[in-house]
Amino acid sequence: MSSANVRVPAKINLCLGVGPVRGDGYHPLATVYQAVDLHDEVRATVRDDEQITVTVHSDVDARSEVAIVPEDDDNLAVRAARLLRERTGSTQGVDLAIRKVIPVAGGMAGGSADAAASLVACNEVWGTGLSRQALEVLAARLGSDVPFLLHGGNAIGGGRGETVSPVLARGSYHWVFAMAHDGLSTKAVFAEFDRINAGRPVPDPVVPDALLAALRAGDAEALGSALSNDLTEAALSLRPELSDTLSIGIEAGALGAILSGSGPTALFLASDAEHSLDIAFALSSASGCADVVQSRGPVPGARLT
Ligand code: ATP
Repeated sequence: MSSANVRVPAKINLCLGVGPVRGDGYHPLATVYQAVDLHDEVRATVRDDEQITVTVHSDVDARSEVAIVPEDDDNLAVRAARLLRERTGSTQGVDLAIRKVIPVAGGMAGGSADAAASLVACNEVWGTGLSRQALEVLAARLGSDVPFLLHGGNAIGGGRGETVSPVLARGSYHWVFAMAHDGLSTKAVFAEFDRINAGRPVPDPVVPDALLAALRAGDAEALGSALSNDLTEAALSLRPELSDTLSIGIEAGALGAILSGSGPTALFLASDAEHSLDIAFALSSASGCADVVQSRGPVPGARLT
């Protein structure tokens, strides 16, 4: 096969517990991931030389993000292709074409999603035949969120997020995402977390029992009350205006409202499609929102289409 197309979802963190910084500079995390219906696509086409190239295209006008996605070896999709080639000894080249819908630097793991998609697409077009498990090992080397984006659905994330284990979950949830005009650097938010917490005891992170019980029961109202994010204070310290966005969604009756990962995307849980439309409408006039998107989760991880 000379080309393959892979669809890959964004992730949200239903809870994000962050522990004290480790010796290697990473923070231990305890999170529950959910893959949501907001997809990038990566098309891989085999070249007849050894080059690996990437182009990035976006249909989303309101956010000027394509400009900050590198179209060179720094692109995570290219790094993924190179790692797969190293691991398998393949000498083939590939053209990667990314269609970007997931917000860039939005706390929804868009770069990691493209890396996961690139692993699946290149494994297919190069005929390298690695199993899903073997791809997950490579994924963990590429970034904390990459293994989950292969996996999809709902899952508990441990370690620095890269160890993914199953979670008992029921139900399909209605989400509204409020995208900000500018991204927020994950690194900067963790640095702010460390600054704020210097001299304070930071407990080991845990996944709240109430959140696991809500997911087991498929209870959207209970899930809304159990959403949590330890990076909130740090992200709001860097972007105080995000608290207005969160308040607008709460006033519109959201069952729960938090920042997605390190932000700045804010996410709101709705009880059904109509409620989701009401929340989206309320947010659409908020000055801090570049774009408002209604979505559903969970959805599967990176898949060939
Ligand atoms: P996370 O939620 O995993 O912390 P994020 O969603 O906040 O990450 P990303 O969209 O993954 O952030 O991008 C972070 C940075 O990575 C971007 O500013 C960009 O320069 C770089 N990058 C490299 N490759 C990609 C890619 N394929 N898509 C998006 N960003 C990429």
